[in-house]
Amino acid sequence: MSYSIESITESIGARRVGNAPATIDWLLTDSRSLNFPEETLFFALTTKRNDGARYIADLYTRGVRNFVVGEEGFEYIKKEQPADANFLVVSNPLKALQRLVELHRTRFQIPVVGITGSNGKTIVKEWLHQLLSPERAIVRSPRSYNSQIGVPLSVWQMNEQSELAIFEAGISEPGEMRTLQNIIKPTIGILTNIGGAHQENFFSLQEKCMEKLLLFKNCDVVIYNGDDEFISNCVAKSMLSAREIAWSRKDMERPLYINKVEKQENCTVISYRYLEMDNSFTLPFIDDAAIENSLNCLAACLYLMLPAELITERMAKLEPVAMRLEVKEGKNNCLLINDSYNSDLGSLDIALDFLYRRSLSKGLKRTLILSDILETGQNTSTLYRQVAQLVGSRGIERIIGVGSEISSCATRFNIEKVFYPDTATLMSVIAQGELPLENEIILIKGARKFGFDALTEMLEKKVHETILEVNLGAMIANLNYYRSKLKPETKMVCMVKASAYGAGSYEIAKTLQEHRVDYLAVAVADEGSELRKAGITANIIIMNPEMTAFKTMFDHKLEPEVYSFHLLDALIKEAEKEGITNFPVHIKLDTGMHRLGFAPSDIPRLVERLKGQDAVIARSVFSHLVGSDSPQFDAFTRRQIETFESASACLQEAFPHKILRHICNSAGIERFSGAQFDMVRLGIGLYGISPIDNSILNNVSTLKTTILQIRDVPEEDTVGYSRKGRLARPSRIAAIPIGYADGLNRHLGNGNAYCLVNGKRAVYVGNICMDVCMIDVTDIDCKEGDSVEIFGDHLPITALSDVLDTIPYEVLTSVSTRVKRVYYQD
Ligand SMILES: *Cc1c(COP(=O)(O)O)cnc(C)c1O
Repeated sequence: MSYSIESITESIGARRVGNAPATIDWLLTDSRSLNFPEETLFFALTTKRNDGARYIADLYTRGVRNFVVGEEGFEYIKKEQPADANFLVVSNPLKALQRLVELHRTRFQIPVVGITGSNGKTIVKEWLHQLLSPERAIVRSPRSYNSQIGVPLSVWQMNEQSELAIFEAGISEPGEMRTLQNIIKPTIGILTNIGGAHQENFFSLQEKCMEKLLLFKNCDVVIYNGDDEFISNCVAKSMLSAREIAWSRKDMERPLYINKVEKQENCTVISYRYLEMDNSFTLPFIDDAAIENSLNCLAACLYLMLPAELITERMAKLEPVAMRLEVKEGKNNCLLINDSYNSDLGSLDIALDFLYRRSLSKGLKRTLILSDILETGQNTSTLYRQVAQLVGSRGIERIIGVGSEISSCATRFNIEKVFYPDTATLMSVIAQGELPLENEIILIKGARKFGFDALTEMLEKKVHETILEVNLGAMIANLNYYRSKLKPETKMVCMVKASAYGAGSYEIAKTLQEHRVDYLAVAVADEGSELRKAGITANIIIMNPEMTAFKTMFDHKLEPEVYSFHLLDALIKEAEKEGITNFPVHIKLDTGMHRLGFAPSDIPRLVERLKGQDAVIARSVFSHLVGSDSPQFDAFTRRQIETFESASACLQEAFPHKILRHICNSAGIERFSGAQFDMVRLGIGLYGISPIDNSILNNVSTLKTTILQIRDVPEEDTVGYSRKGRLARPSRIAAIPIGYADGLNRHLGNGNAYCLVNGKRAVYVGNICMDVCMIDVTDIDCKEGDSVEIFGDHLPITALSDVLDTIPYEVLTSVSTRVKRVYYQD
């Protein structure tokens, strides 16, 4: 839906500077997601960490002409304000965004489902979409856009065709729900459940629950679990005027009574009574969360009068909601992005955006494999015109279409293209080598019916069955956790040395760069130049610069740490030889670690040496804490900080330019917030391990493998080399393809540690071999091909590091490079 710039100016009460004519279709808050510049209105939001006004110049060069800015942001661009752009100046751009969408929402009289709760919001939303979309045009939040920014962007998608809307609302602080209620104005409210997630800013669980219920202020109906006494009490207290569908498995008087929940091997049969009618359905899941989610969906479908037969039919076909885009290495130097989320325009756009960002630095051709997009309710030619437009605007160079509908619209695509009637045909063409896929970044996106999983598997590079799964979303959550402990102006170095603590440096660096960390740090020059060659442009510090690698550093702008006169002299000499001036270096001081660094007493001579040349310039000065994780060393830590404070001040005083000062590592950030100086260096915490007690923040890395073979071994036999694996009973033994050459330490063998098979502990039997080891699965229901977790989401890495009498750092960085890293993002 389009709005004139005049009507938007009026709606948000802005002062308009510029008078270029414009119509707006798209709202943008993240400059990286730009799609249709001419019709886009960019909101320059200021957050604690970032100022959207910084992106205006870039967006302007990319064709955007309409901007909403705060007074300060406007000051910043006023000098060079282009004549053909409109600036809508407001006191608060976020409030303006919310206000605009509030007014947009008032134009629609359709049912709107608002979902809140601690868990399950996205699944309930996606399942409702699966259950209700065949006969209705539905708009819904993309992925989990449920925040103060995500909600307005979601609601903005409502248009003349929409017949039903489904939006999620998530809050992390008191006071936020009122704003979201105003924007969503739900008529149907669903409260999924209440738990401890996002609890940190709430006084009590009750406060949080009451806040969530504000979403339902003007709802016609509210749906929740009537058996949950806590929720029922909160609902009673909040005195909603809405009708209630509190479903219950215990109380027959409730409007929706669930009289039976019968779990079978891989499905659950659920019988219910609603308005005196008895019915049942089969859910293709057995976990409790899925059952609860399905009951919330059931209540909403009944309220929306979806006939019971259709509910039964569609519940049986519910598909799991995959919440992630998986990046995998493919054959022939391809990179695969597997999006099994679902296929519709909104999710296609998000996935294309993801592909585009990944492709920028890699020099890979951008290819899309796309199936027919099913059940959108749109007519085929309009739909594929839009698809073609999206594909064009995201710079896709080649499309491989699968299905009769997309094939019939082939002429819409003005890029390299080829179409096939079905997945089997495409796969056989690839298998016969008639459709080479090489040096491409490939987004594979298909409706479930097309079975693209098999296609992905075929294109995937398979070297070894053992993988390290890296959750980039969790890493960002950790980054934000540590950022929240900093003053807004404090800068951050993220340590990506040792292949990002084993997680793999490129993808990690790329993600951190996107989140605008100030510096990355690696150990040696080669690690840095690899990152540069892969396209990382962020500032990079080299912690252990080799004398032989200065040239590499100059060529790639890799900023060395300097810890001795010997190193400094050699560096200056080499830089002078190359005619380089003002090359940034980072001065390390030794304040107690006694590893590397200048002594505080070296400072006068250091100042003199630096002043007598212009080849290098001190960009920062830092030191390293030896025991910031442990209260027993607090007095020593404070002494280190004092020593650093005065020594670094001496250095700074000698120079007119600003020299950044930093001393805190992860533990320092948590425990010595007064020692932030200008910058901090985040390491282990970023990778999800608390530096203080080794507890897991958000787990980032999971090491996984699969069972190759299972056999029964009689009690008197032994397992493995040197007959070490003695058995106490007749046993079932599984062999898994991971050994000490993958980084699985030999000391974990012989019953010293365990891994997880289908959630149960399986002890290592006998010696761990080079590439394989054996585990005891006697008491575990499992089969060949089942997945095995060595450490990660369900088995904390400390279960291994404790046995090995070492620290998690060592276990993480020991996972060898032959183990494939697989990245995903929530
Ligand atoms: C590795 C390293 C860090 C990060 O330490 P963590 O304990 O992982 O947070 C910080 N500073 C220096 C100099 C380092 O070498």
